[in-house]
Amino acid sequence: MSFDENLADIKARINKACERAECETTPELVAVSKRQPDDRIEAALKAGLRVFGENRVQEAQSHWAERRAGYPDLKLRLIGPLQSNKSEEAVALFDTIDVLDRAKLCRTLAEAIQKIGKSPEILVQVNTGEEPQKAGVLPGDLDEFLTQTCREYDLSPVGLMCIPPAEEAPGPHFALLAKLASRYGLPQLSMGMSGDFETAILYGATHIRVGSALFGERD
Ligand SMILES: *Cc1c(COP(=O)(O)O)cnc(C)c1O
Repeated sequence: MSFDENLADIKARINKACERAECETTPELVAVSKRQPDDRIEAALKAGLRVFGENRVQEAQSHWAERRAGYPDLKLRLIGPLQSNKSEEAVALFDTIDVLDRAKLCRTLAEAIQKIGKSPEILVQVNTGEEPQKAGVLPGDLDEFLTQTCREYDLSPVGLMCIPPAEEAPGPHFALLAKLASRYGLPQLSMGMSGDFETAILYGATHIRVGSALFGERD
């Protein structure tokens, strides 16, 4: 299928899921352009998509540093693990950082925000499946992280993000994330990927991150 056909299909599925979920606002489609070739990125821009997700700072720079000038309404989101020594580059490039997950990153992001004079939106990644190999604040540590660690560095996250364990049904993880976001009054819920975005919408996702279903398989 062509990019435009994939996009039409995904938009139809989003609308259908939204009807079932009785969404007040349609969730934002974040087009995950990591490891995608230039012609597909161009097709996405031509189709009018303006919100893109990338999981590496350097690759994001190569995809977007030049293109950005032609698209003033472009919004870039960092959705992959951030090394603290890349904080300044990340603050400079991204509009939203979905992956705040530890105290050290609070410090380096706060320093970068000070230095660069630009404040991206920040979401806290939550390791809902408590998987040792996965990034994210553990659900049991979230309270302290939000009410103490973030405050200490003057960071005010606007939402939560999760990646459920690959081998489990995602619904309970999305439900947990939604419950936590509501508890702390956080408006953004970044959850759902190609395989499970409809489920995420049922649980209140405000941002779904779709890569392969939109662009095709990655390199
Ligand atoms: C790669 C990636 C996606 C997109 O995955 P698809 O299954 O290709 O839709 C979404 N979220 C994160 C955090 C990713 O790393």
